[in-house]
Amino acid sequence: MGLSMEKRDELYAGKAKSVYTTDNADQLIMVFRDDTSAFDGKKKEALARKGAVNNQFNAAIMDKLKAAGIPCHFERLLSPTEALVKKLDMIPVECVVRNISAGSICRRLGVEEGLDLTPPTFEFFLKNDELGDPMVNDYHIRSFGWATDEQVARMKELTFQVNDVLKQLFLDGGMLLVDYKLEFGVFNGEVLLGDEFSPDGCRLWDKDTREKLDKDRFRQGLGGVVEAYEEVGRRLGMTFEY
Ligand code: ADP
Ligand code: UDP
Repeated sequence: MGLSMEKRDELYAGKAKSVYTTDNADQLIMVFRDDTSAFDGKKKEALARKGAVNNQFNAAIMDKLKAAGIPCHFERLLSPTEALVKKLDMIPVECVVRNISAGSICRRLGVEEGLDLTPPTFEFFLKNDELGDPMVNDYHIRSFGWATDEQVARMKELTFQVNDVLKQLFLDGGMLLVDYKLEFGVFNGEVLLGDEFSPDGCRLWDKDTREKLDKDRFRQGLGGVVEAYEEVGRRLGMTFEY
């Protein structure tokens, strides 16, 4: 699964992944762990095989996005649970697009789950667990200097381009892309898609039954979490190594 690459120091350990420096100052190794968390880290559990599934799922999705012309940090898989990525200066916001209402938008706006959102909505959330990732807008991002106007515009443009590519990809596998979260960072002055795209950071429903095939299975204690992620991968023609 690619040439080996030396892991140097742990740069940071997040809730689900750990990030290591390498002998190349422009590259990092992301290690996908089995740790799973929800509700800003208040619910936690290790789910066997999840790290491997998410790493390989993300690799396949990033390859598709790159092929569609979306600039991504992903370089290559190093092992079942590790990937080599470009080191980004992360922009500390999450970009969320919703095609169908679910999750926090239902609680915030008092709307029912499952409404088609046309056009899809776009929201920014500040990455800050202590504050519970509060929603912010373009003005906050500019005034606090988290990103420039151009970077804000580029994040929106790329997040919607990802929607066009992935909505169709999942539909071809009999699934609805309900919503998803992306993170971006800057590399040599350019905004690149960073972090991951996996069933941990999006909502996917079976097209016909609307069965949940994503992290809501963990949030809602429905069981079969990793099995559902594997099923999503299988429907997209992916195979996983453990
Ligand atoms: P969290 O920080 O939400 O707990 P993770 O456990 O997924 O999330 O940790 C991964 C961390 O790595 C996140 O803080 C994310 O912003 C950061 N990250 C993702 N991609 C890159 C990259 N290419 N360069 C630098 N940092 C990255
Ligand atoms: N999301 C995420 N990380 C976060 C917050 C949200 O990956 O810190 C994803 C989540 O999985 C969903 C989408 O972003 O696919 C929208 O999440 P929402 O605002 O509905 O919050 P939730 O109710 O999922 O906490």
